[in-house]
Amino acid sequence: MALEFSHDCPYCKTNSIGFTGRYNWTIPGVGNQKFILATCNGCHAGVIFLFRLNNHTSDYDFSKANGNLASNGLQTMHSWPQTAHNDIPEDIPVQLLGLLTQAIKCLRQGAWDAAGMTFRKVIDVSTKLLDSSFSKKPLAYRIDDLEKSGKLTADIKSWAHEIRLDGNDAAHEDDPFTREQAEALHSFVDAYLRYIYTLPKMVERSRETRDLANGKA
Ligand SMILES: [Zn+2]
Repeated sequence: MALEFSHDCPYCKTNSIGFTGRYNWTIPGVGNQKFILATCNGCHAGVIFLFRLNNHTSDYDFSKANGNLASNGLQTMHSWPQTAHNDIPEDIPVQLLGLLTQAIKCLRQGAWDAAGMTFRKVIDVSTKLLDSSFSKKPLAYRIDDLEKSGKLTADIKSWAHEIRLDGNDAAHEDDPFTREQAEALHSFVDAYLRYIYTLPKMVERSRETRDLANGKA
């Protein structure tokens, strides 16, 4: 039997959900502590725990554990991660959601070029959705226009010019994306999407809630 215990899952955000111990290891020279990788029984994501062993030494076999942590003398000292970052900004159009999910998947698999091109496509499709006349302009110009019309801040605009968003450097246009370039594009795309879609929706919802409370709706 594997060790089973309950914990709040940082990924699926379920409180006090069951976790199953998968693998554990000792710290050389430390007799009363042990690391264990456990997975959430709901979403199957992994969390690493550092336990203090109050009743046993570090050769303690977790598979013999029965009952809860306390009855086995196990005390959670720390767990990683505490909170898991949500990769997908809320309230983005469905066309972008599909592309962004693909791009993040490529990034996790180390397919930097596919990730870079797909992140770029997210911005390409998004700017066309915002203004159909954009389709003939290079991406960098569209970002400049969005800043001029007040839809993006000057900071986000200059950020767009610091990363490989556009193929405006003709000499390097065909070079595959490096890991750094793909990750930089991910950060940019994340900020862009939150600024263009997530924040305005958040403001709108907060205004609606306020109006309801004030009896205006
Ligand atoms: Zn979970």
